Amino acid sequence: MDIHVLKFGGTSMNDHQSWKQVLEIIKQYEYPVVVVSATAQTTRQLIEAAKLAEQVRLDEALRISESIKERHITLVGEFLKENPHPKNPLIEESCIRHIEQKNGLLNKFLKYTTKVGELKPNMRDGIAAIGEQISSYLLAQCGLAVDILTQHVDAKKIIKTDTNYGSANPNAMLINQKSGSLETILESGFTPIIGGFYGESTEGTITTLGFEGSDYSASLIGSALHAKAIEIWTDVSGVYTSDPRFIEDAKPIPRLSYYDATEMAYFGAKVLHPSTLKPAQERNIPVLVKNMFQPDDEGSLIVREAEHDRKALAISFKDNIALLTISAYETVMGYHFLTHVFSVLEKHQLTVDAVNTTEASVTIALTDNHKLEELGNEFIEIGSVELEKQKGLISIIGCRVSKASELISEVFEVMEETDLDMISFTKEKRILNIALDEQLLTEASQKIHTRLFS
Ligand code: ADP
Ligand code: ASP
Ligand code: MG
Repeated sequence: MDIHVLKFGGTSMNDHQSWKQVLEIIKQYEYPVVVVSATAQTTRQLIEAAKLAEQVRLDEALRISESIKERHITLVGEFLKENPHPKNPLIEESCIRHIEQKNGLLNKFLKYTTKVGELKPNMRDGIAAIGEQISSYLLAQCGLAVDILTQHVDAKKIIKTDTNYGSANPNAMLINQKSGSLETILESGFTPIIGGFYGESTEGTITTLGFEGSDYSASLIGSALHAKAIEIWTDVSGVYTSDPRFIEDAKPIPRLSYYDATEMAYFGAKVLHPSTLKPAQERNIPVLVKNMFQPDDEGSLIVREAEHDRKALAISFKDNIALLTISAYETVMGYHFLTHVFSVLEKHQLTVDAVNTTEASVTIALTDNHKLEELGNEFIEIGSVELEKQKGLISIIGCRVSKASELISEVFEVMEETDLDMISFTKEKRILNIALDEQLLTEASQKIHTRLFS
């Protein structure tokens, strides 16, 4: 059985016309397993409602909840109107029942949050997952209206995780076991449709895999099923040389490696969740990134090995970066100093993006976080601390080692007039990182992109 895991993101789940397109794509596969995101904007709205509830602004939170409910009821209504089928009255009834049930649950969570005056991590995940719980059920029902034999599967039954709410760690062994039920569904001629992004912890609570986590769900399921391919269907024609929304002339990369794609995602290319490629890589399953709205475009194929002959493969960039500089007191010995710095970062679970060191100081680029202000005390024994915020990080990925000097001099040339805070190049990792003011981020990325890729 050649299984294809197909993942459709929020933009693909936007309105009834795109639902139709999603279902048309599904029809072309013999054994598809479908993973879907929440409809566009829903997760963001759910989080906003949760935060309002925490601030005891329950009325506003409940209004958002109501708008989510109404939007989904309208979406189903429109879909069924455009796709007449004798089963439609039953489908509509069951969709509305499901929406109302999830809306009731959401309101209960919101009221509880207001009552305790705190958004508990498990509650936050319970609320965030409602978007995928609704979208997957509705799409499965609407599939019946266009004669696809669908079966909705609650992701709780498949994606088993720990209790690290907000960014839960999947339990691959359990997921492998539970995914067997998806094969049974396929064998009996049905197409399973599952919500991405969420799962269930060992304590039976709902967990989420982090923003953009539906990509990760698809990859975990694809790996568990030894799928022929994992296909990420989105709103652009693959993984581009840089974010096409901001960078003029960015072009799709036809073939790239798991390693380079992971680095791109980690350093800000939102098209894939950074953990997506790990499960695929473990079983050497190709990952294809395709455009929902232009299905004939080639897209990007992500595989184990992919050579390229350019100076670099791509440019990722991210904002909301902080630069933390710790300057050692004279009496502190070199290795003690760095050990201390990194043990503090470990204690606070802070992930480092780039580092520069001198004999007596270290500068660390990392995603800004409220914890950073409180770190000063932790370094009191070893040195003084400076924190700069509103920085951005540009990462040039897949630099060709043989052309590194040429590449670096070209980058310096175009950045001649730009004030840069930090530069680091790692030959082995083939990455050149540049930290600079956040407001210069897009313009500088564009300049580098034009120089390297045009
Ligand atoms: P989905 O809803 O399908 O998950 P996302 O919005 O999460 O879609 O991801 C697709 C978006 O990622 C694109 O619209 C694009 O703006 C952005 N993006 C950022 N970097 C890249 C890149 N290097 N290649 C392609 N898309 C990128
Ligand atoms: N709906 C979630 C988000 O917006 C997960 C996803 O779309 O992948 O992050
Ligand atoms: Mg996404």
